Amino acid sequence: MRCYDCLQEARSDTTGIGVCSRCGLAACENHARVRQAQVARQVGMGASYGRIPARRVVCHTCDMAETAH
Ligand SMILES: [Zn+2]
Ligand SMILES: [Zn+2]
Repeated sequence: MRCYDCLQEARSDTTGIGVCSRCGLAACENHARVRQAQVARQVGMGASYGRIPARRVVCHTCDMAETAH
């Protein structure tokens, strides 16, 4: 599994550590961003958030797209 961002930069020696949860492309440890994610659970009429955050991986590009204003 090759990191897509590294392939764009003509580097093919890196190994992907995860798959972006948004675009589905592989990302290496330099290009992947590991974020905490709240897990919502349905409780009665509302939603409650678990005490322990889950984890999601997004690639560099999607991370910029999500955080850019
Ligand atoms: Zn990379
Ligand atoms: Zn992505």
